Amino acid sequence: MSLDQSLHADREAISELGRQMLVDGLTKGTGGNISVKSGDAIAISPSGVPYDEIQPDDVSVLEDDEVVAGSTNPSSEYPMHSRILRQRDDVGAVVHTHSPYASTFASLGEPVPASHYLIAFVGDRIPVAAYEAPASEALADAALDALGGEYTACLLANHGVIATGPTAEAAYEVALMVEYCARIHYQALGVGDPVLLPDEEVEHLASRFADYGQTGDGWAGPDPAVAVSEERWNDLEPERKAVSSHGRKMLEQGLTEGTGGNISAQQGDLVAISPSGMPYDEIDPEDVPLATLDAEHVAGDRQPSSEVRMHTGILRERDDAGAVVHTHSPYASTFASLREPVPASHYLVAFAGQEIPVSGYATYGTQELADLALDALGEEYDACLLANHGVIALGEDVADAFEVALMVEYCARIHYQASNVGEPTLLPDEEVQRLVGVFEEYGQN
Ligand code: 13P
Ligand code: ZN
Repeated sequence: MSLDQSLHADREAISELGRQMLVDGLTKGTGGNISVKSGDAIAISPSGVPYDEIQPDDVSVLEDDEVVAGSTNPSSEYPMHSRILRQRDDVGAVVHTHSPYASTFASLGEPVPASHYLIAFVGDRIPVAAYEAPASEALADAALDALGGEYTACLLANHGVIATGPTAEAAYEVALMVEYCARIHYQALGVGDPVLLPDEEVEHLASRFADYGQTGDGWAGPDPAVAVSEERWNDLEPERKAVSSHGRKMLEQGLTEGTGGNISAQQGDLVAISPSGMPYDEIDPEDVPLATLDAEHVAGDRQPSSEVRMHTGILRERDDAGAVVHTHSPYASTFASLREPVPASHYLVAFAGQEIPVSGYATYGTQELADLALDALGEEYDACLLANHGVIALGEDVADAFEVALMVEYCARIHYQASNVGEPTLLPDEEVQRLVGVFEEYGQN
């Protein structure tokens, strides 16, 4: 790609991600700004222009701090962006947001600690840069200081967030994770004491993130001994479709952020499972790979979810389940970070069982996590929380499991809100037990 072409792509990305910042609630008004480095040039969003009006040609391009293209004035935070882009070789893009949960900790002047495993996107915490006037060189210094050589993001005291990455999309994902981790920590502090992950675990997580998603040279294809026929691939089209469509729903209905969470659906000895690390709105049924019940990838070019062992382990052990939905839904994840079950403060908890139990902690994507999830679910629960992580929900099919995941989040929210202002009254065990029975017959069953 020529420099001109790559700059054009960068200016398009800045225009698009600016709009997305508003959609995802990462800023209000014209707050925040985005920049991308391309050779000696830096493309940056214009100053004070409403995001839904920024066209790629409006995005300023600077070389040696002089505007060389763009019909508008560059962001007032250009000094901070350019300093970070020049100082950190690993950074190709900077996203600055005013996202509300992170900005809350920025106003407290407190870092966000490791109450959720996704903090490892940033480091062992989200550090805070000292307050300096917006748009000043001193703010650039403070941000660089807080980022050091290792953090991918920091808070700016009494202001907002700086997130970085090799590309604009990667920096944006970091900005989303910063807000998500800040939200979980904020909510957890509201009703209890979040359990923090030890530094060694966060380091271990960060090293695993390096090959998360569709990385590597692609898949060489299945072992011929287990290869799946085209007929079988076609047979599982309904399952692949259900995984694809519910992935989109998971985002739309606020059950996850970014590429978090995953979905599987079983047919006989095969499981259709969401591909790892792919944006949900890009996952079509052809992108959904198949695995055996022993977690062996046997069809489809995409790498299966990193949680394939947990999904297949559950589907193998639980005969009543034909699908598994794993979410990072924010209220349920709050209790996961508190490592507290959600009790029966709302009758709909009976969708999961007597309560929503919580598993022990293990690193995402491991057999150990699969075993802990199965332990927590036992034979009787249709959902559980995964400590410092999220939710597992089971059902006969994906629609069913998705409904359970929705009810888990709803009950967690009600319990959270009730606990915030008082002491929720819990339903007696016998009544919840009765409701569990009622739900088995509920609807068109
Ligand atoms: P995947 O993108 O690999 O499915 O992982 C997301 C996740 O939620 C891990 O627990
Ligand atoms: Zn997860």
